[in-house]
Amino acid sequence: MSKRVAVISPAPTANGDLHLGHLAGPFLAADVYTRYQRAAGRETVFGTGAQDTSTFVVTTARRLGTTPEALVADSTARIEATLAAMGIEVDGFSRDEDRFTKLVLDFVSRLHSAGKIVLKPARFPFLPSTGEYLVDGYVKGGCPVCLTEGCAGLCESCGHSSAAGDLIDPRSTEHPDAVVEMREVPVLVLPLEEYRTRLKEYFASSGAALRPHMAQAVQEMLDSPLPDLPITYPISWGIPAPFPEVAGQTINPNAETMAWSIYTTALGAEKRGELLAADDQLWWPEAETEVVYFLGFDNTFPFAIAGAAMLLALGDRYALPAGFVTNEFYELEHQKFSTSRGHLVWGQDLADRLPRDVGRFHLAATSPENQRTNFGWGALEAVTGARLIEPWNRVAAKAEQWAGQTLPVSAASRFAADRITQRFAATYQLPAFSLGRAAETLAEQLGRLDRWQVTAELAGDFYHQLEAVLRGAAPILIDLAAAALDDTAVRLRDETTEITPKVLPRLTGGAV
Ligand SMILES: [Zn+2]
Repeated sequence: MSKRVAVISPAPTANGDLHLGHLAGPFLAADVYTRYQRAAGRETVFGTGAQDTSTFVVTTARRLGTTPEALVADSTARIEATLAAMGIEVDGFSRDEDRFTKLVLDFVSRLHSAGKIVLKPARFPFLPSTGEYLVDGYVKGGCPVCLTEGCAGLCESCGHSSAAGDLIDPRSTEHPDAVVEMREVPVLVLPLEEYRTRLKEYFASSGAALRPHMAQAVQEMLDSPLPDLPITYPISWGIPAPFPEVAGQTINPNAETMAWSIYTTALGAEKRGELLAADDQLWWPEAETEVVYFLGFDNTFPFAIAGAAMLLALGDRYALPAGFVTNEFYELEHQKFSTSRGHLVWGQDLADRLPRDVGRFHLAATSPENQRTNFGWGALEAVTGARLIEPWNRVAAKAEQWAGQTLPVSAASRFAADRITQRFAATYQLPAFSLGRAAETLAEQLGRLDRWQVTAELAGDFYHQLEAVLRGAAPILIDLAAAALDDTAVRLRDETTEITPKVLPRLTGGAV
């Protein structure tokens, strides 16, 4: 067993608040995984943040008529508040800070001085009317791999990287009718192809436990020559590159992924009271940290392919991540969430309208783990009412008649509690981690307690198993578990011989 677990969810772009797609995708899963690991006795740090170096910050700010700096400050505060409102407890939260900038520059400078990154001419669309080179969020066109229309950098649809210069029919996102020229500019790149064989070995061994869509994308990417990863871009937004041969260029945000991961892990460990000898200490092989990512499918390339290659390029200094848990898109009333069209539900709205345990249960039950899933208010009311709120309230009412009495617990009930613990454990652990099955296990076990015709003789057993179910559900039902249980530690072998039922809180559906 490793010494420590580092859970990481890539920082969302600081160009708005978090909507339910963000929460039902990586963030709730990362929080639940973190809570379970801790309950099972493993030191765990969870890191995310707000990403401000993305070009989407600039494009959104222009659309809203504000400055990128003001948008970053506002979005960062909102993202942090929404995570807190939903009980997603983050240890390391990265933001626009000098210490992060320094870590990124140290990281790329190490690659540079080791001769791993090289100067190469690359093609970029250029907008003569503004004098801007177009990368990532500045440019739209057809994906050279899957033909889907989208921005450059990463394709949301197939997950492959799509260099701006390779887009089919590239157009400026801000000035779609303006004439675009192709120009060649020397930029620093990491030739990923040099690492393809070792990446294949890595995914064949440690990284084998991938969800099917990511497994397919990784195989596609590693079956053909890999592209160069631009380390610098000829644009002004971002961290200025410290190399004279690319004066005036900035660091590609997708080349920051590992420096950022190291940074957020260090912040998280410090917040949990650890004193680190160096910011990157937890990533050294001897630290034996098990790094697990929870990420949208479209982050496969920058974190799993380019990210692992950057670590390999630095030799034996760093261990590679142990796991990647991807998610697909979450839809609202059967259409993709869209901030620009206003087709979305903010995380904060859900937190305001419902007890957060109910919201967390529904997001878990409908989590888009392997394919797109749908959110709708009607479905939320029906699903949480029938599978959580009503059975829980009946079970709590049934238990209440014995509140305050000390009751015996039988050997058969200890056996049953161990079975319940095992059923939940199977859903919370890699490689089969699944929020959906955790929610389903909870609903099944609650249904069983609900149907149980409890006699006075077995009242102790009933309450004992109720506690076992709540202990299993504790990573999802955080407030109920905190109110009802003395502790949420996972008990692999239950040794309870007597128990004293409490008056349990009831759940409400809120104002859906
Ligand atoms: Zn594509």
